[in-house]
Amino acid sequence: MNIHEYQAKRILKEFGAPVAEGRPVYTAAEAEAAAKELPGPLYVVKAQIHAGGRGKGRFKEPEAGEKGGVRLAKSPEEAAAFARQMLGKTLVTKQTGPEGKVVGRIYIEDGSDIARELYLSVLVDRAVGRIAFIASTEGGMNIEEVAEETPDRIVTIHVDPATGCMPHHGRRVAKALGLDGALAKECAGLVAALYRAFVEKDMSLLEINPLIVTKDGRLRVLDAKAGFDSNALFRHPDILDLRDASEEDPLEIRASEFDLSYVKLDGNIGCMVNGAGLAMATMDIIKHYGAEPANFLDVGGGATKEKVTEAFKIITSDPGVKGILVNIFGGIMRCDIIAEGIIAAVKEVGLEVPLVVRLEGTNVELGKKILSGSGLAIIPADDLEDAAQKVVKAVGWGTE
Ligand code: ADP
Ligand code: MG
Repeated sequence: MNIHEYQAKRILKEFGAPVAEGRPVYTAAEAEAAAKELPGPLYVVKAQIHAGGRGKGRFKEPEAGEKGGVRLAKSPEEAAAFARQMLGKTLVTKQTGPEGKVVGRIYIEDGSDIARELYLSVLVDRAVGRIAFIASTEGGMNIEEVAEETPDRIVTIHVDPATGCMPHHGRRVAKALGLDGALAKECAGLVAALYRAFVEKDMSLLEINPLIVTKDGRLRVLDAKAGFDSNALFRHPDILDLRDASEEDPLEIRASEFDLSYVKLDGNIGCMVNGAGLAMATMDIIKHYGAEPANFLDVGGGATKEKVTEAFKIITSDPGVKGILVNIFGGIMRCDIIAEGIIAAVKEVGLEVPLVVRLEGTNVELGKKILSGSGLAIIPADDLEDAAQKVVKAVGWGTE
């Protein structure tokens, strides 16, 4: 689960990180009032969406003006004018995809005098099973290019979970960021605070880009992006409260209500699979045969008929889906129950696209018999390869 920049900054402030003063607002009038409460003389008007690249992003609507989603205002009145232009408009950035995201709230922040922009993030490095700090002197809006063109300018520092974050981690991050003297000391304090926030709040990602050195020689968190491990959210009701459903895909929200692991993707073959590993393999083989999956969907090992029906409804309500591949291994779950679930779902929601079903495992013969006797236009498949080829062919992407 992701949260907005201003919410992430509020959390970091609680842990002692240096952040500027600011207020979230929902209207232009609130923006003006908020700016009047800040020290000034410059106010930054920042669109709050769950995506980065706002500064370089552009709005779809011409009324929103030529500028991006981060604007510098010289007066509270100008801050209000920028907020009015941005609210309710669609901001398109490198991270939103071409459809963009509608701006529903704005963060008004006190302007900072920037001397240098640095990059610092904390993440779980799964390859080594440790939390890592990623640091670079090349912070700001071009970090993706730095990663691509000059990856040696990005330094990774791992933390051993047995010791936790130690003073030497702070010193190493400071060095990687080119900081010395009082700034290095400040950086070490920040590193300790970020680590504590990351662990205590069960974050999966914390990215500060940029972390700035101000002209008067202080560090400040200027942008913050925080993501949380959804498996741990049950122990953080305060974080769950920060959820902004308007930022999430409605199908993904519905899937989570039914305890289905669903991620929407851009392809046109809808997949219904049980088990994350099998789901990944199914997506791979679809790609192997030249098409793209429309989603990742794991109905789980103990899926019920109701879950299968719901999963089917979610897949078919995505207008991008031009064919469906059901790939189920009946272990705990018997194939005949799956077959009945599929039939019930098709009868309820109808079937407008080709449906290929591959069943394997417990009661597979009975499951196949139920499907073929249903009178529905279901394309049976013998194995995964056969199933992938059939569905790719059915949507007209095959190489044959
Ligand atoms: P994004 O990463 O989504 O583009 P940022 O918050 O990083 O958004 O802002 C983009 C750029 O805007 C920053 O790199 C910085 O140069 C400038 N900026 C952001 N906030 C402030 C601020 N409070 N004061 C001055 N400049 C800012
Ligand atoms: Mg940024």
